[in-house]
Amino acid sequence: MIEKYAEIIGENELDAIFRIAEELKGISVLHINSTPKGGGVAEILSKLVPMMNELGINTQWKVIRGDNSFFNVTKTFHNSLQNGVGELLDDSFKIYEKWQGINLSEIPLDYDVVFIHDPQPAGLIKGKKKGKWVWRCHIDISNPYPPVWNFLRKYVQLYDSMIISSSVFGREDLNVPQFVIPPSIDPLSVKNREISSFTVERILRKFEIDTERPLITQISRFDRAKDPVGVIQSFKGLKKHVDAQLVYLGSPASDDPEGELVYRETIKAAEGVKDVHLLLLPPDSDLEVNAFQRGATVVMQKSVKEGFGLTVSEAMWKRKAVIGGNTGGIPLQIIHGYTGFLVNTPEEATHYLIYLLRNKEIRERIGQVAREHVRNNFLMTRELRDYLMVILLTLQ
Ligand code: UDP
Repeated sequence: MIEKYAEIIGENELDAIFRIAEELKGISVLHINSTPKGGGVAEILSKLVPMMNELGINTQWKVIRGDNSFFNVTKTFHNSLQNGVGELLDDSFKIYEKWQGINLSEIPLDYDVVFIHDPQPAGLIKGKKKGKWVWRCHIDISNPYPPVWNFLRKYVQLYDSMIISSSVFGREDLNVPQFVIPPSIDPLSVKNREISSFTVERILRKFEIDTERPLITQISRFDRAKDPVGVIQSFKGLKKHVDAQLVYLGSPASDDPEGELVYRETIKAAEGVKDVHLLLLPPDSDLEVNAFQRGATVVMQKSVKEGFGLTVSEAMWKRKAVIGGNTGGIPLQIIHGYTGFLVNTPEEATHYLIYLLRNKEIRERIGQVAREHVRNNFLMTRELRDYLMVILLTLQ
């Protein structure tokens, strides 16, 4: 029920959404990505698609399929696009193209507007027959590894428009209109809505967390871009000064084959460090995520590469001071010193962990400003309105 958001964003904002939607009533829209669960894209689509339908826009969501070799290739693409360096597996481009062909033969594409999310299904554009196609890029493509970017660019050039999450990802080597839409969170979802402190404590205790001692959390897939080993190092530094606990909660995503390896690296880094809880939960553990974010004294998102980092807004919405990596979309959310702290190294993270754990009042003040920053910029209703505008402009 979109009306329910009025109490959070006000009637005027809602009116704007309904007014734009009125112009789009009856059109058909398809979203395609590469995983139904796990990670930020699936999180957003699971909210955006029902909302668009509620507004009278016939919207569907399809997920491409692939085998291990395909997802290994797309993960190396993902890493090398974000890191600027990389290595290509044998036959990478061939494997990618083969699976684009298989998916093209299976997914009907007869829609007025098709949104293709991220590089994994970007090659489907070759099958475009009708409608407008928009490439929605959720990752940092500001400094890509040239061989992979040149390959992907051939496809991106064929789109009618594209969307990036921050203007710092804008590219000058493309002839495609580029819109900027930062991602967003759903304040009414199980993951983000208010829950009682009783529930929070019950869930924390279930995972053997001592609710009397400070708790640091990071909630992220086990991915080197999220720097789980750096989180452990930061916590180790903190432990010399404060008797705190750490929860690193990760869940698998079907399009990320590296999770297990990085999980093992993290276990190794945590050997001998007391009070580290590395938790692997199913990807739909939304109530647990909510509880760990709310139960945290300070939240970390120490990414070294990040498209946006929904977990940052999720925690800020819960009035948490967040220490985030100074990269990608995180600085859109964290204004250093006002809505949280940006860091480049584990040592800096340790510094701000100690500072925040020793200053309850500052923690709370930052948490309050952080919540308002999210209310004004990173709620689902704003993203919904932005998508409607892109559809309107792309159809013109
Ligand atoms: N997430 C989750 N369980 C986990 C790890 C992550 O539910 O164990 C969620 C997290 O709350 C967020 C999304 O997955 O909603 C991750 O999005 P983000 O943009 O932070 O990172 P991505 O995984 O897309 O790189």
